[in-house]
Amino acid sequence: MKVTDHLEKAQGSTLFSFEIIPPVKGRSIQELYDNIDPLMEFNPPFIDVTTSREEYVYIDRDGLLDKKLTRMRPGTVGICASIKHKYNVDTIPHVLCGGFTKEETEYLLVDCHYLGIDNVMALRGDAMREEQYFEPTKGGHDYAIGLVEQIQNLNNGTYLHEVIETDNCADFCIGVAGYPEKHLEAPSLKTDLKRLKEKVDAGADYVVTQMFFDNAKYFQFVEQAREMGITVPIIPGIKPIAVRRHLQLLPQVFRIDLPQDLIDAVETCKNNKEIRQVGIDWAIEQSLELKAAGVPVLHYYSMGKSDNIKAIARAVF
Ligand code: FAD
Repeated sequence: MKVTDHLEKAQGSTLFSFEIIPPVKGRSIQELYDNIDPLMEFNPPFIDVTTSREEYVYIDRDGLLDKKLTRMRPGTVGICASIKHKYNVDTIPHVLCGGFTKEETEYLLVDCHYLGIDNVMALRGDAMREEQYFEPTKGGHDYAIGLVEQIQNLNNGTYLHEVIETDNCADFCIGVAGYPEKHLEAPSLKTDLKRLKEKVDAGADYVVTQMFFDNAKYFQFVEQAREMGITVPIIPGIKPIAVRRHLQLLPQVFRIDLPQDLIDAVETCKNNKEIRQVGIDWAIEQSLELKAAGVPVLHYYSMGKSDNIKAIARAVF
């Protein structure tokens, strides 16, 4: 079922969803299941599965380093299929521009269509670890809007090169990313919102936001988006702080601000167990306020371990 249909069915009550990361290759999918199991009691209508950029690995061959390009966390679509089958829940693969040609994207979308996956999240992807800026893949899309257009074309029965005439169109519901504190490369929030509007005009059905720790940023973002004519649902993304390193890492990687009260609370903690609890408490407060404001879904970035998400969900749902 489409995300938009889930929202319609919910009739204004706030839904619970979360996002998982494929395991590093060579690890068992059971680890994922062990972290999903405790969250199923909160009835997520859908679960997102991220896609990781490819990366360089260096293999020591008799003292000489051999540089190889590989994807350390493959399997997004397979994981979507296995979770959908095991839990009878909708799953949403994240589809990236980075690392994929348009042809490869088409094959992936055809797989999704055959698997009965009704939603896809269209994203540009970040720069690879060794790149300072995002470099488009040869034969791929430069921006997420290109992906949205490709998916929308498939929905209209138009495959690449227009070689196929079809009477069996896909009908993907398309999610895209939004940034309450603007995307790190955008010159201003207003410009970034214009780009978001372009994605929606091209066919995106809903937006999921980057994490934020101050709800005022989300509320202002939604207000500005509405003023700009973006009418689709805007789902807030919530991440509980879990380790001290997040204080530096999150602002550095995502260019987001952390509220001083949250920083102070983390700094007084004696160990990561206490910090994890601060993260849970903060996310509960955020979630309760967002829920009271009537957000359609609270979407949690689970990053592997789900004990903290369970504690939050128990307090909020
Ligand atoms: P875009 O919408 O293409 O925007 C990227 C930048 O380009 C923005 O600054 C925008 O303002 C600008 N821009 C857009 N269009 C144009 C244009 N036509 N001309 C000039 N500038 C333009 N990353 C992953 O690698 N895997 C994931 O699974 C993943 N999941 C995510 C889930 C969510 C909910 C979010 C919020 C992010 C996720 N990301 C993921 C991170 C995302 O890939 C990065 O933030 C990436 O840098 C931007 O992706 P985007 O889809 O927002 O890009």
